[in-house]
Order: sequence, then structure tokens, then C-alpha cells
Amino acid sequence: MSESPVCNLCRHADTEWYCRKDGIDVVRCRYCGLIFAATLQKNEDLIKHYSDDYFEPYLKTQSVHLKKRFKKRIQEIKQVVFPGRLLDVGCGAGFFLKLAEDIGYTAEGVELSQYAAKYARSRLGLHIFQGELGDACFAPRSFDIITLWHILEHVRDPRNFLTQVEALLKEDGLLAMEVPNIGSTVARMAGAHWELMAPKEHFYYFDAKTLKQYLEESGFKVIRMQTFIWTTPAMIFRAKAASRNGLSRFLLYSLVALAWCLSFIRFRNLPASITGDVLTVYAVKKGGTV
Ligand SMILES: [Zn+2]
Repeated sequence: MSESPVCNLCRHADTEWYCRKDGIDVVRCRYCGLIFAATLQKNEDLIKHYSDDYFEPYLKTQSVHLKKRFKKRIQEIKQVVFPGRLLDVGCGAGFFLKLAEDIGYTAEGVELSQYAAKYARSRLGLHIFQGELGDACFAPRSFDIITLWHILEHVRDPRNFLTQVEALLKEDGLLAMEVPNIGSTVARMAGAHWELMAPKEHFYYFDAKTLKQYLEESGFKVIRMQTFIWTTPAMIFRAKAASRNGLSRFLLYSLVALAWCLSFIRFRNLPASITGDVLTVYAVKKGGTV
């Protein structure tokens, strides 16, 4: 038996097996409950991974959903802090930044992918630093808003990353973020078949408790937490159908019918009684004045 990997959240090395996908074991910390990939891809492999092949299909299939969701998020942010200097870390092709700029924010982005950064600069005319956040050399406490849309699960050291983000945010600044929610019913039921279980690129899997702990220990106070549904049953069905365990015809049709019903509430903010598989969190600095 090899040694347990060290948990990034609580620093204990005591894990149990959670699932295996794409040849990578995913484990759960017995101490704090954080779920994470037992081995992390190397940085150079990651840069290769986020290439044209990664972004091109993503832009084609996800841009409509992204823009719709981003419109909602920018309005939610505007209710708390407006105007101001906004930084979107892991800004991808820049759709969110463009919306922010259009309604009056001073918008800047950081993006690891050369392809996406080029798209954001040349097609949308945005101000983008291509590389890691730590290499961008922004002045401390210089942003009013920092957004992390589906980024924290991709970084190798979330604790260090959140510390960097906290240092860049002004005292009365706002942090807005989204991550996959492993505490959701769908994630628990689907296990390795969950669409967002992707240990080659998603290294960490948060739930409301572990994310709150991360944020509090990095100097933030959570002011709002909400969820929405990302995965449809059809996605789980496709994943299961591709695996060796077939599903009964009845279950198959039930899932498709459920997927159809769910499509009407997909991407909408859900009431607290329903736990969707993506968490949206707004946080301020401890002692901040927002
Ligand atoms: Zn832990």
C-alpha cells in the first residue's frame, strides 16, 4: 500500500479511496472530507492540455450557456460592488470580461491557455495576461472584484492560490466563484460517471463545507452560497452506457424524461432545499466593509 497523499486543506495524510477515472485514483481525506486526485498532472502537461483542441469544441458547444450564466453573475456582482476594477482569473475566451466591460467595469483577465488568451485579446479586444496568476505581478489590494469561474478545482495548490487572490483584493472587495459541488445528490449518485469528475484536469472536489473552510482559512467570509444544476441525467446515462454496466430500458427512459424536465431549470439558481452540482459563492475579506 502506497502512502496517503497529503491533503491540501488540512495537511493530514490519511485518505480513503473514492473512485478511479481516466487512470487516476480520487481519494477523500478522512480528516476534513476534501476529495482530490491522488496524483496531479505536471504543469507542462496541463499547458499542453489547455490547447486549441481543448478550447475550440468548448467555445462552440458552451458559449451560449456561458453567456447566459455570466449575464446573471455580473448582475449579482453589480448589486454588491459597482463600478470598479475587476479581475477574472482563468478567463478563458473572455466572455465574462466582455460583459463586465460592457456594463462599465474596468476588466482584466489572466489565462494560462495561449489559444484562449489570444481569442480574448484579438476577437474581444480585452486586456489579458497570459500565464499564471503569480507571474502577473499585480499590485497588492488593487482589485475591487476577483472572479474565479470553475478555476479552483483546476489549480494544483488551492490554499496558496486563494492566499494570492486575497492579497490582490481591496479591503472592501468581493470574491465571486463557481466550482463543481461533490456534495450534491447527482455527484454522489453518479460517482465516477459524474460529468464533472475529471481528475486529469479537476484536481480538487469541494462541497459547501470544504469550500467554506478553504475560504475562511484564506481570510474570507462567505456572504452568499447557492447552487445550480449542471449535469443532466442524459449525461450520466451517456457515461454509464459507455461503461460496461448497462442500464435497464426502463431506467434509461426514466433518465431521459427526467433530463427533459430538468432542462427547464438547468443553470438557474436553486432554492436551498435542492442541491445542484455546481456551487456559486460570494465572499468578502474578513473585516471588509462590503
Ligand atoms: Zn483534509
